[in-house]
Amino acid sequence: MLAIRVKQVFDGRRSVPGAGVVFLNGGRIIGIESTTVDIPQGCRVLDRPTATVLPGLIDAHVHLLADSGVGALERLADYAADDCDRVIEETLRVNLSSGVTTVRDLGDRNYAVLDWRSKHTGAAVPTIVASGPPITTPRGHCANMGGEAAGPDALRVAVRERASRGVDLVKIMASGGAMTAGTSMTRGQYGVEDLAVVVAEAHDAGLTVTAHAHPLAAIRDAIAAGVDGIEHCTFMTDTGMDFAPDVVAMLAERQIAVCPTLGSLGANPPPQLMEILRMSGLTQETRKQKIAALRDAGVRLVSGTDGGINPGKPHGVLARAIADLVQGGMAPADALASATSVAADVCGLGHRKGEIQPGHDADLLIVDGDPFTDIAALTRVLTVVLNGEPFS
Ligand SMILES: [Zn+2]
Repeated sequence: MLAIRVKQVFDGRRSVPGAGVVFLNGGRIIGIESTTVDIPQGCRVLDRPTATVLPGLIDAHVHLLADSGVGALERLADYAADDCDRVIEETLRVNLSSGVTTVRDLGDRNYAVLDWRSKHTGAAVPTIVASGPPITTPRGHCANMGGEAAGPDALRVAVRERASRGVDLVKIMASGGAMTAGTSMTRGQYGVEDLAVVVAEAHDAGLTVTAHAHPLAAIRDAIAAGVDGIEHCTFMTDTGMDFAPDVVAMLAERQIAVCPTLGSLGANPPPQLMEILRMSGLTQETRKQKIAALRDAGVRLVSGTDGGINPGKPHGVLARAIADLVQGGMAPADALASATSVAADVCGLGHRKGEIQPGHDADLLIVDGDPFTDIAALTRVLTVVLNGEPFS
């Protein structure tokens, strides 16, 4: 048994009044007690008197095959199998050392991440939720990942193929993206009918669907098609950002998980992205307006970083994505929940991840300080616990 003694316990939803010791055994959380509790003889104790313990963080949008270098998404098409394994292992290591104990991979090339996962099932491996290659139009956004499909028949086949490969969800590129030349961030790639075919087929197979969508038009189509989640959700139009109240209201009403892919190092984005940012009016200010609009409407926000796609968005910046939500006016408890309890629910893991409660997996993050008063405390990682085993 291991007892972790800290100043504060955030259980995935709130700071638990009076709590200060978390007991672990056999890879599970077995109890939460006050600091005055008697520690049984023979129980190991990890003392972190100035610290806060949280559930291990969940990054709901990463690219394990993207190595955080320049052109990461373009280069992954040329990787040999050995390269894939090496990059996946390194990017998982970076995530884990930042406190991320579960990732949702939304950009596999063919099925390299799923293949790696099937070969590595030990307790020392973070949990991977995986979509396989994103479904995209011929030569569409991230077509080099191997997921091209057009027309209802091919889309049904694409979903069935993913289901048979053991994916946890389906990702579809409902619009173009900044990192693929020749695609547009202000135009949809599929019509609502095609999106609906994918949703119906996936739901039949027991899979959820998340749609990559920058433009308002593609967000509308994705909602109409019945998707479960939207990535980026940028609200772009040809004339700037439009956080259309009717669309925001639908997102809230249908409890669609919106992952705004915040968090970056602030390094200069690639030139083509800079141009798009300038044209679209995507600024710090519009980002705050978006967070406020989504929060006020009660939209289900989940944190994910798009980690790995370029040097400004490397793996391991989830703490910054959470801080961006707080700077956008979200309450710290809600921002923290977006990367713990809410993220676990969205990933289909709410029964065993994302909360500190008896019976849940002992994946924990211990940080120095109090993220409720200083969100940057999340970057001061003292210890990460994975499946009950602490490492610093
Ligand atoms: Zn992405």
